[in-house]
Amino acid sequence: MKILVINAGSSSLKYQLIDIETEEVLAKGLCERIGIDGSRLKHSPEGKDEVIIEKPMKDHSDAIKLVLEALTDKEYGVIADMSEISAVGHRVVHGGEAFSKSVVIDDAVKKAIEECIPLAPLHNPPNIIGVEACEKSMPGVPQVAVFDTAFHQTMPPKAFMYALPYELYQNDKIRRYGFHGTSHKYVSSQAAEMLGKPIEELKIITCHLGNGSSITAVDGGKSVDTSMGFTPLAGVVMGTRSGDIDPAIVKFIADSEHMSLEKVDNLLNKESGVLGVSGVSSDFRDLQAAAESGNERAALALEMFMYSVKKCIGEYAVAMGGLDAIVFTAGVGENSGDVRRGVLEGTEFLGIKIDPEKNKLRGQKVEISTPDSKVKVLIIPTNEELMIARETAALVK
Ligand code: AMP
Repeated sequence: MKILVINAGSSSLKYQLIDIETEEVLAKGLCERIGIDGSRLKHSPEGKDEVIIEKPMKDHSDAIKLVLEALTDKEYGVIADMSEISAVGHRVVHGGEAFSKSVVIDDAVKKAIEECIPLAPLHNPPNIIGVEACEKSMPGVPQVAVFDTAFHQTMPPKAFMYALPYELYQNDKIRRYGFHGTSHKYVSSQAAEMLGKPIEELKIITCHLGNGSSITAVDGGKSVDTSMGFTPLAGVVMGTRSGDIDPAIVKFIADSEHMSLEKVDNLLNKESGVLGVSGVSSDFRDLQAAAESGNERAALALEMFMYSVKKCIGEYAVAMGGLDAIVFTAGVGENSGDVRRGVLEGTEFLGIKIDPEKNKLRGQKVEISTPDSKVKVLIIPTNEELMIARETAALVK
């Protein structure tokens, strides 16, 4: 069974074609500049050279058509024809409170995703456009929605409620939703496999540390708390996002800098985080290089990032009343031994001990704690596309 995984953004569309039996990626690629001059498709078929196809794509339907042409092309395609695609799995950012699991898409599901647009105005509209483009180009092929928020729907009210007037939750749906759910679910289930224990018996903290970062407390396989909130702006320090700040700062900046609320929102999302503090970059490799060559603000930004992750680990260990494993994943978590070491420095009293040699490993599934460490520390590369393909296959089989 072959599953096409689609992640549609406002002017881009990423895809992977996955053979679910072997879990092999047959091809992957990216359509860029959809609806803008200079649109192009970068297509990477397994075992063949990457091709770049420069063709106008006025909308996402054009993009899907080009993707299907590339997948079935005689020269650089990987399947004979479209009928080999059994189902399409779509990454959908926000499912609100309506979805606690992935679902096969029908009209009612589309309506419910549309109703979540106020909660994710930048993401849900292109996600719906991606679904509709596939429905048009691949009639009759089942489409599945896999939500970033769904895994966190198991959080109890004490974790997801904000201490605001209750009516704001009832009327405006203001609560913690959490994001990166597909990644947290994938790495926590992989962790249970690596530890050879049923996930129901484990307390795990998953640290998804990339450009955007979030930490989740996974108790018995269920998300019980997570650091991102109503939006992905909340939680730990990130590449360009501030993470948690005193909410009174928003009005203060608006007044003192004579900024509109939109501008302040943009500043918190795009000009803050390690970029804002360092003035160097949001990219952790650049930041580490700058810190090593003596840039104090880059070093401070890194320290702030690691400290915010460390505090979150402590918070969740206490919230769960115990801890069996910590997982590091995503660009920074999988690759940076320095960040992992910095985050866990001083946590030995919790029974966390990492092996400095094993901590040098990167981008592979490996345990990096010492044999006598009470808490296991694992690096597990995330694979959201595979998780989307697995969930899609399970629903359409
Ligand atoms: P992601 O959002 O998961 O794609 O992660 C992107 C981030 O991972 C960027 O800030 C990269 O600098 C960072 N990253 C990738 N490789 C490394 C590395 N070897 N060391 C430190 N950071 C890395």
